[in-house]
Amino acid sequence: MSIQSFIPKQRTLMGPGPSDVSPQVLSALSRPTIGHLDPLFVGMMDEVKSLLQYAFQTTNPFTIALSAPGSAGMEACFVNLVTPDDTVVVCVNGVFGVRMTENVKRLGAKLVVVEGEWGRAVDPQALEKVLQENPSANFVSFVHAETSTGALSDAKTLCEIARKHDCLTIVDAVTSLGGVELRVDDWGIDAIYSGSQKCLSCVPGISPISFSERATEIVKNRTHPVPSWFLDQSLVMAYWSGEGKRAYHHTAPVNSLYALHESLLMLKNEGLENSWARHKAQHQALAKGLASLGLEFIVPEEERLPQLNAVHIPEGVDDVKVRSYLLNEYNLEIGAGLGAFAGKAWRIGLMGYAARSENVALCVSALKDALQK
Ligand SMILES: *Cc1c(COP(=O)(O)O)cnc(C)c1O
Repeated sequence: MSIQSFIPKQRTLMGPGPSDVSPQVLSALSRPTIGHLDPLFVGMMDEVKSLLQYAFQTTNPFTIALSAPGSAGMEACFVNLVTPDDTVVVCVNGVFGVRMTENVKRLGAKLVVVEGEWGRAVDPQALEKVLQENPSANFVSFVHAETSTGALSDAKTLCEIARKHDCLTIVDAVTSLGGVELRVDDWGIDAIYSGSQKCLSCVPGISPISFSERATEIVKNRTHPVPSWFLDQSLVMAYWSGEGKRAYHHTAPVNSLYALHESLLMLKNEGLENSWARHKAQHQALAKGLASLGLEFIVPEEERLPQLNAVHIPEGVDDVKVRSYLLNEYNLEIGAGLGAFAGKAWRIGLMGYAARSENVALCVSALKDALQK
């Protein structure tokens, strides 16, 4: 067998990520690779920082794009901020909340879990109660947009409660950034991480993160080194900032950062509010179409994520058969259920460039065909 160049099919990506990447972003990706310390590249990194500050709605100087996927962004927040002396409250309402608890356990900190229902938003009163019972708690973490279930939590209120109890907040915005309202400074979020391949519609493998002044102070004043060398942000800070001189830390994924720059520029040109509104409008159109097929949402209407639509698989319908049919006949990818919803739900993404009318129409008609078959 001779191995030849790999040329993938043109798919429509409507799963939980990666989402469709626009031709504009793919074309940015193929521009000439230059050195990662080339003054031209350093100038572009500065623009990525400022575009990310816009996307996050923050003035945090420490706002960068980590050279690794969203999972590394999660780990970077925990590993830099949390020590064995800390008590971390984690709100769990899906797979990614569970992953946060794994991070806390591995760091040897005290873990307190706010057990939530899968498919529902985090209950602010449950957080309030846990914080009253645990006065030593100094961190609160939660997932803004739980991609495993399609539930959107009220990040603003959760951060208010955390702050009232003198806790710093660590927020997962992997799926929320660019798709729903998110205001890092107004809501007082201390550490936040996202991913390039969800509503930013960029290629996978980059994690935008931002630390508030309070979080940055913790990193600077640590007495023990961060247990991960690669994710130690005190070292990464010298690479992403430092007027004029940048210290080599690792080789940035140069072309992927061109792509991120382009996707963030597209977001800026569209306008954040417009992007949030577009996701909502496409979600409403999709919800109508899904209802016409008799498909039911897992999450109650007021807690639904526009960019991730989780529906119950109807009785007697073969999950794998339907998804394979969509992929083979329509080049359409939708997501399988994850964790507690494995085999029981489909997750239909409307993220970034994928949140368009033609995708909604394709998904509804293809699903209709598949269900009839
Ligand atoms: C996708 C996702 C992650 C993980 O991101 P990767 O880039 O796959 O590592 C974390 N949290 C949430 C909410 C996600 O949707």
